[in-house]
This record gives sequence, C-alpha cells and structure tokens, in this order.
Amino acid sequence: MQILISGASIAGPVLAYWLSRRGFDVTVVERAPALRKTGGHAVDLFRPAMEISERMGVLPRIEDYATGTTSLTVHRPWATRPAHIDYLKLIAAVSDRHVEIMRDDLSEIYYDAGRDAAEYVFGDQITTISDDGNVTFEHGAPRRFDLIIGADGVHSGVRRIVFGDDVPERFLDGYLSVVSVPKSLARDGDMIGYFEPDRIAMIYTADHLDDARAVFLCRPRRPLDYDHRDVARQKDQLRSVFRGMDTVVDRWLEEVERTPTFYFDAITQLEMTSWSSGRVTLVGDAGYCPGPAVGGSTSLAVYGAYVLAGEIAKTGGDHVAAYANYERTMMPAVLGSRSLARVNAKTLVPGSRWGVRALVGVSRAVSILPLQLKQALARLNRKGIRLYDNMPLPTYAESPETIAAQGTLRSD
Ligand SMILES: Cc1cc2nc3c(=O)[nH]c(=O)nc-3n(C[C@H](O)[C@H](O)[C@H](O)COP(=O)(O)OP(=O)(O)OC[C@H]3O[C@@H](n4cnc5c(N)ncnc54)[C@H](O)[C@@H]3O)c2cc1C
Repeated sequence: MQILISGASIAGPVLAYWLSRRGFDVTVVERAPALRKTGGHAVDLFRPAMEISERMGVLPRIEDYATGTTSLTVHRPWATRPAHIDYLKLIAAVSDRHVEIMRDDLSEIYYDAGRDAAEYVFGDQITTISDDGNVTFEHGAPRRFDLIIGADGVHSGVRRIVFGDDVPERFLDGYLSVVSVPKSLARDGDMIGYFEPDRIAMIYTADHLDDARAVFLCRPRRPLDYDHRDVARQKDQLRSVFRGMDTVVDRWLEEVERTPTFYFDAITQLEMTSWSSGRVTLVGDAGYCPGPAVGGSTSLAVYGAYVLAGEIAKTGGDHVAAYANYERTMMPAVLGSRSLARVNAKTLVPGSRWGVRALVGVSRAVSILPLQLKQALARLNRKGIRLYDNMPLPTYAESPETIAAQGTLRSD
C-alpha cells in the first residue's frame, strides 16, 4: 500500500517512521529544498510524546539536545530589580516527564530515525489530488497513492486542496516571532525576558547552538495587516511593535534585518470538527493546530502521527475505519488543547500591568513550592495545565508480522 505524506517537520517524519515500520510504502514530499534547519523556537515534548520518542529509540538523542534552560530572569519597566524564576521547577508543575528542544533539532532526529525506510522528496509539493488517489506535483511526475496525508503545517497545502480556504479558525489576537541573533547576546541556561502589557520579548541559547533565539510575543490592540508570505512586511511590523521597549530589546531588533532565520506567525487556532475526506486526512498543525507557542502543538503532532499510523495499520489500511478511529481518539486531546491555548494566549501575554504582576508572581510562587505539593495541585487540574501528561497513549502492534497475526485474529 502506497502512502503519500506532505510535510517533513515533526508530524510528517514521525508518521513516516511508524507507517514504514508497519510495512507500508511511504513517500514524503517536502516543499523546502532540504530539511528545514531554519531556526524557530524551542518546543516542548510532554509525557506521551516522550514515550512515543522512547518507543522510536530516539529519546536519548532528544535528551542530549535539550535546551538546558534552568532559570528565567524577568525585567519589568516599573520594577527596579528583575524577578528570578526557577524554570525547571516551574515546568515540573506542568509535566513530570518533559523536555524542551529546538524544533529544528527535533525534526532532524525524527527524520534520521526513519529516513532509510521511506522515500523523501524535497523541493516539491502536491498540486492536485483526485478522488481515486492520483496526485500531481509542481515538479515531479504524477503518481497514484492509496492514502494521502497532509502534515504540512498550519498553512497546509493539502488542507487547501481538499477543504478549500474557508475552514473554521480562530485568531487568538496574538503574534509570535523568533529571530536568530548572535549567541553573545544571551546567557547559557538563563532565559532573559522583558515583560510589559501586550508584549513580551525573551532571549535564550543552548550549549550546542551557534546562535541565540530572540522570541517576541505580542497582542496588539488592533490586528496587524499581516500576510504570512510577506517577510519584509512582517519584519517592519515586528520592529514597530517592539521598538523602544528597552535598549536591550532594541539591540535584538537590530539583528532582524540581517538574521539568517526569521519566523513570524499569527497565533491562530484551527477549529475543524473533522479533518478527513475520502483518502485524505491531516495530521499535526495541518489539521488541529491549537495555536503556535500556546497549545503544545508539537506534542499534539507527535501524538497524532503515532495514533494515525497505529489506526491505519490496525485496520489494514481501510481508510474509512482508520480515519474515523483516528479522529475519535484524537478529539479529546484536540478540544482540550484548543481551550488550553485560548487561556494561555491571554495569560502568557497579559493585557495589563496587573496581569504581568500576576503572571510573574504566580510563576515565582509555583517555582518555589515543594515538588510534591506542586504536582498534587496540578493533578487536580487534569484538563488544564496537565492535559498533555494525561493524554492516554494507545498501544499498537509494532511489526508487519504482528499486524499479520492481528489480521488473522480479526478474520477468525
Ligand atoms: C521553520 C519552522 C519554524 C517554526 N518555529 C516555531 C516556533 O518558533 N514556535 C512555534 O510554536 N512553532 C513553530 N513552528 C511550528 C511547529 O513546528 C509546529 O507547531 C509543531 O511542531 C507541529 O508540527 P507539524 O509537523 O504539524 O507542522 P510544521 O512544523 O509547521 O511543519 C510543516 C512542514 O510542512 C512543510 N510544508 C508546508 N507547506 C507545504 C506544502 N504545500 N507541500 C509540502 N510541504 C509543505 C513545511 O516546510 C514544514 O516542513 C515552526 C515550524 C517551522 C516549519
């Protein structure tokens, strides 16, 4: 059975790994000319994504590449001294199994895990998909596939082809930008932040990085006239929102023009109630992005890819049954991460001085509570901050032999 996946970032390579391992012929087409080592922010892997990575045998490598951030120093314009927050203890309240890693490192690790078993085609993209599985590409020759899966992110091309431009989505009133800047501007292990109502700027680096990443989060009073393809305009908008925040932040902004890597996106959440049609389904941000930086999109993408591959294998490639099971299994996590992201978008970038005080105060308080108390409090809130740790991880048969045995059992 031939399966085509569009997108090779996080969801795509994880899905390719699990499908090939279960005996399917997998092709991955990625629009970028090579695996995108183009910066981006650190992303979080919570318990289920850690366990999936462990089952893939890549957890030690992921842990080697962890960012190693241990503290957060917060400057506020009205405070004479910065606040110091124990970052590790803060994260321990959210998850008891977690790692923070750069998106590009994680993508490469997942890609390396499955690259030999799948065909990867870079620098191309799908242009049309017919009901019987015939696919045309921008550059390559047309081919037929039994299943076609969009893992091509929040601006998914597969989603546009199959569902059109008008899918339900909700703008969470914010924007995220990540800029690669010289490493000398940051301190190893300590994330430095400047917090004000409606805008937050932070910088951090990691031992193994040659650069540092400046992260900008804002919730302007009026939406920006934003186009996700117009990088020059995004850079101007970023500078105009953040200029004058602090001389240190102005220094980071000087790098925007010459940075080799620049990420900017509106914090938008998809609200599709179903993301499959015929032979096609979506995985990760393409189908259910809760919003960049606010809803645990990376863990959800890893989880989704694992569940989708498992359901396809379990049903022997019967896409009607597999996609229905996949959507049913994912729905609680998708809905939970949507509501968590809506809350996070407001609390992470407060709209008032009071809100900034509360955010910093609560973060400090949580970071100094004893671990057991922190975890006991968090456990009371299984649908909130502990959502990701509590997503149930199904177990699927792992090898083609086991699947064949399962098939025999089913037909008996
Ligand atoms: C370069 C980059 C930087 C990022 N930086 C951040 C960040 O700083 N903060 C944050 O919260 N999230 C960031 N993200 C998004 C984050 O990776 C995802 O939210 C999450 O990891 C889920 O991953 P995904 O695989 O579903 O989607 P994504 O990581 O968005 O990956 C989608 C992949 O599909 C490819 N693609 C897009 N369109 C097509 C097409 N038409 N045909 C073929 N391939 C296509 C893209 O090049 C990309 O490799 C970034 C994504 C990318 C690609």
